[in-house]
Amino acid sequence: RIAYVNGTFLPLEEASIPVMDRGFLFGDGIYEVTALIEGRLADNEAHLQRLDRSLREIGIPNPYSPAKWTAIQNELITRNGLLEGLIYIEVTRGVSERDFLSPADLKPTVVMFTQAKPVRANAALSKGADVITVPDLRWARRDIKSVSLLAQVLAKRAAAEASASEAWMIEDGVITEGASSTAFIVTQADEIVSRPLSHAVLPGVTRRAVLRLVEEKNLTFVERTFTVEEALRAREAFFTSASTIVMPVVSIDGQPIGTGKPGPLALELRELYIKTLLATR
Ligand code: PLP
Repeated sequence: RIAYVNGTFLPLEEASIPVMDRGFLFGDGIYEVTALIEGRLADNEAHLQRLDRSLREIGIPNPYSPAKWTAIQNELITRNGLLEGLIYIEVTRGVSERDFLSPADLKPTVVMFTQAKPVRANAALSKGADVITVPDLRWARRDIKSVSLLAQVLAKRAAAEASASEAWMIEDGVITEGASSTAFIVTQADEIVSRPLSHAVLPGVTRRAVLRLVEEKNLTFVERTFTVEEALRAREAFFTSASTIVMPVVSIDGQPIGTGKPGPLALELRELYIKTLLATR
């Protein structure tokens, strides 16, 4: 596998960053993940826009233009012969002596690699996802896609311990989002519900794309918070992310949602998303 580090393409095993990198020492950096399906980058412009915003919010200069980012991504995809999988970007504040403050002229560290994996044909799809709930232990600026992911790692470990694939995080009695996804329910009144964007959640790129599809289908989308109790009464539940697209949820904390089988609307939105992507270019 070929990786990209600060302007150089090299074998992943040879790719490294200095111990004094602030991403390693402080989690002082941000990341993005874009999916690749049949050689097409999914919603990549939106991912690069969010990358730019995350960097701006924490005062790291964006080292590249969108065109340059895309060119590097495409070269990495070509060098890896990747047709389907994920492309990961990380930007840290850079390398300097360990101190909370850093020199103003620090050069950001840029790392990129690919992961070949089935995105479209997800093995979890036929059965649907089991979800557990955990307290949301994260910081107050979850709209920034920070590499400081300790709370998410712990949430995913708890999920795995319970043989679940995702954890939905709870704060003030309502679901904020999944450890690595945006949470949705479909109510008995056929409203598609997801909480409004704020500092409390990451503005999901896939969330936005799915909302466009919901609008095109003239379905009702309601932006509001919801509780676990409401989710348990829902007709369907699902989550969205770049790597899972739209994933139906069949149980929460061991309690079945709807029929206990993947919901038809979630599956339809998933197929529509893929169809729309493959129809572009
Ligand atoms: N929420 C969190 C906390 C995430 O980590 C992710 C993706 O990793 C998402 C939501 C979904 O975002 P996107 O659809 O842009 O991948």
